[in-house]
Parts: sequence; C-alpha cells; structure tokens
Amino acid sequence: MTPGVLARRVASNAMRLLPVTAYARVIRSEPIGLCYHVVSDRPVPHVSRLYPFKTVAQFRADLLWLKAHFRFVSCAELMEARDAGRPLGPNRVFLSFDDGYAECFSVVRPMLLELGIPCTFFLTTDVIGNGQALAFNQVALCVEAMRTMDGGRVRAILQEMGAAAGRPLADAEAVSAWIRPALRNPDSPAYATLARLVELAGVDVEAFLGTQPYLTAEQVKEMAREGFAFGGHSRLHWHLGSIDGAGRVEHEIVESCRVAAELSGASRVPFAFPYDGFGLDRGLLADVLRRHPFIGPVFGTGGVAREADVLHRMIVDHPPRRPGVPSTLPGVFRDAYLSEALRRLGGARAEPPG
Ligand SMILES: [Zn+2]
Repeated sequence: MTPGVLARRVASNAMRLLPVTAYARVIRSEPIGLCYHVVSDRPVPHVSRLYPFKTVAQFRADLLWLKAHFRFVSCAELMEARDAGRPLGPNRVFLSFDDGYAECFSVVRPMLLELGIPCTFFLTTDVIGNGQALAFNQVALCVEAMRTMDGGRVRAILQEMGAAAGRPLADAEAVSAWIRPALRNPDSPAYATLARLVELAGVDVEAFLGTQPYLTAEQVKEMAREGFAFGGHSRLHWHLGSIDGAGRVEHEIVESCRVAAELSGASRVPFAFPYDGFGLDRGLLADVLRRHPFIGPVFGTGGVAREADVLHRMIVDHPPRRPGVPSTLPGVFRDAYLSEALRRLGGARAEPPG
C-alpha cells in the first residue's frame, strides 16, 4: 500500500465517524450541487446502456435523506444571494436534472411537487419536442438492438465499426465505448459512422422519437408555471471544450439559454456544461457571460470542487449496489468531500466527466 492510499484510507475511516453535516461544514461548497439525469421504474433503453439510474423508491429515499440533513435552495434564491454577495449559509443543497428527458415531467415532477422541493432542469434544447435524438441515445439504442441480434449480423457490424475505429471491437459495448467520446465533437467523422451504425442495427429513430423520450415545450411551460427553474445545457450536447471556434461555443451557450428563458418565462437562466467544462477557455466563458447578462450562474460536474465562476455538482444517478441501502447519498457525500480534501492537499485537478 502506497502512503497516498494509506492516507486516503485513514482519512476515509475517520470521516465515516462524523455526521454528514460536520464535514459539509469543514469543506464548504455553497451550495452543494446534485445532478441527476433520469429516474424510472421502467427500462429506459436509450439511457440504460449509458449509465445506471435510480428507481422511484431510491430517488425518494435520496430526497428524504436530503430533507432531513439539508435545506434545498431554489435557482432564484441562489441567484439572489450571489447578486447580493451574500452567503447562502451552511448545509444548502441545489437539486438539478440534466438533458431534458421526459421522465423529468412524468416521474420526477410529481414527487418534487408532493415533497415541496425546488429543482432546476437543464435542457438540451434542440431535442425539446422530440424532433431529433441525441447521439448518445442513438448509440444506446444500437447497443440494445445488438443484444437480441443473431451472431452473424453482430459480427458484421463489429467488423465494419472496427474498420472505422482502426482497431478490433469485441462487442456492442466496445463500439459504444469507442464512438461515444468521438461524438462529443460535432465535426467528428464519427457522426457518419453513427448514421451507418443506426442503419446496420436497424434502429428506427423516428419510432423512438414517437415514444416522446424528451420533454416537450408544453411540459416545460407547465413545470415553469409550477415553480420549477430551467437552464441551458447546449443545443445537442456537444462538449464545449471540443468545439472548434469561439463563435460556435458561444452559440451553444446563448441559444440553449435563450430557448430555456423563452419557454420558462424567466428573465435570467443558468447554464450547465454538457459533459464537463474541461478545455473550455474560462476567459471566453467570462466574456460570453458579460455580453449576455441573462445567462448565469454556470454549473459544472466537479463534485464539491470550488471554482470562481462555476458552481460544481455531484452526479448522483448511480443506484445503491446492495439492496436494502436506503440512499446512496451519505456515501457519495463522504467520498466527494474526501476526494476534495485530498485534492486540495495534493493539488490535483477536479472535475470528473458528467
Ligand atoms: Zn448532459
């Protein structure tokens, strides 16, 4: 065991003895940001192959645990406090959902209304209304389709995708793991490969869109009337740090926020980076925010890390590994604070992918 691993283990065990609010006070992140994508009791084939997510009961357990230990802060409260240069106070939590899946309306919204919990939804605005599908959702559907395909057809797909990748790809998951990072860049030749993959896998994107997998404009408006906040999350979930050209980056931010503001009726809306903020020039970001004062604050996915102009959030979709564990959040919070404490001690970089 290296000294680093040993130190981490000792610190982790020590932190386990503390109540969650104690270490929230030690490393202050105001507020603590949480980011979910989807909650469902039913299979969500366009997401299940990308990452696991919580059931309704597991999400409820998270909310009840949060209610017992923290105070939820709404987007408006957060903006007000920042404008006034006033701290929010300890133990505040900011709840958010990214990407704009239909379950935000059908599953998440009723529970939040029942429990009186504020939430901000970051929209990938070009898919509102189900006119087109996000690239990674199409990949997930292809992986799903390949599960039930005969061996010969799967081998043919793997061969063609392997030729495009320039290396052998052993199975559908390997195709997904190769193509998804490439699709973060809108200019990538992987987009042509994705179109071919969809064709080979026999995925009917139109039929998929017919199931209304994303929020509609009407649903967004209804939720806004109910008090929920909305923000921009780019138009089609491209990685801002991978887009060539400052003007195009600006367009992704401004256009998605413009649509979120228009649909929700808000005069100011926040923005959340698709994936993460790595590689995005912070000078460019500051310039965009200065010229478009209706945008802000900006959110990242760096856990409890602190950055001057970006509020970070922890991604908390992952369900409990063991049955009977009511909420994953106590463990997630402890690990995030531990990582941040060690990062500060060791000077490492923050921000995992999101
Ligand atoms: Zn996202």
